[in-house]
Amino acid sequence: MTAPSARGDVPVLPSPPLDDADVPRFLAELGLDSMVDAHVHFLPDPVMAKVWAYFDRAETHYGTAWPIHYRTSVDERLATLTRLGVGAFAPLVYPHKPGMGRWLTEWVTEFAARTPGALPTATLFPEPDVVDYLGAAVANGARAVKVHVQVGGFDPRDALLRPAWGLLAEAQVPAIVHCGHGPIPGAHTGLDVFGEVLAQHPRLPVVLAHAGMPDYVAALDLVRRYPNVHIDTTMVGTGFTERMTPLPSDWSARLADVTDRVVFGTDFPNIPYGVAEQVAAVAGWAAADDRLGAPFTRAVLHDNPARLLGVG
Ligand SMILES: [Zn+2]
Repeated sequence: MTAPSARGDVPVLPSPPLDDADVPRFLAELGLDSMVDAHVHFLPDPVMAKVWAYFDRAETHYGTAWPIHYRTSVDERLATLTRLGVGAFAPLVYPHKPGMGRWLTEWVTEFAARTPGALPTATLFPEPDVVDYLGAAVANGARAVKVHVQVGGFDPRDALLRPAWGLLAEAQVPAIVHCGHGPIPGAHTGLDVFGEVLAQHPRLPVVLAHAGMPDYVAALDLVRRYPNVHIDTTMVGTGFTERMTPLPSDWSARLADVTDRVVFGTDFPNIPYGVAEQVAAVAGWAAADDRLGAPFTRAVLHDNPARLLGVG
């Protein structure tokens, strides 16, 4: 199936992109003029330099090399996203200690204001002023809030966060939460731990980053239990991740009844392969089950993240 021959309004699933330069062809044959990436990282340059230095020592941390594929200037990274056909993206920031949440949130708010395609976001940390800076970001139109339980090393059930979760549930602003044990566990990672937050805030819109890696099945259980819980595709199903934390063999079948709650994410630029590989992984799931196909691929790459992030 390589031709976009129409079946009604729905094109046949195009052949997956071979490399980044081939992604626009794939999107066009799918009937999309752009895609939406819900999980991208931009950080102040000195912070990003530290993140890259960490990945340079990945063999120590993860037991495998992690060569950053898009280690270029901010302008070049933005041009790359445009070439890939990314029309809108959520630039995500996250603190690893107290006192950084406000600064990073203010930085990313300004970054989004001056950067075409970048949606305003925020982050949080359990600290006394969290509701103050988070509330300001939401009032200023933040479309998503990155929560990194592993890097932050905090307990998402912390009493200081309770009003923050309440605020996001009330405003219906999604929290993109890295709470799985992969690629390495943290003191308070685990879908069971974050499940307790959801039990207290059942309307909270959430994106389980990396589809809860490696607890993919538990992540889908939370998606089924709570109507506002989603998963993102970030790093999921790529060759790199499959070698460490493979998907269940019936993954495509498991997605068939939650197709509206899977959103495209990549971890650009901090990935050890090209974005085309992530797009091809989604296309591979779609091809493996007749209930998915082209409509699922369009929904994941564009419609679902656009709806969740309020992209016009
Ligand atoms: Zn990430």
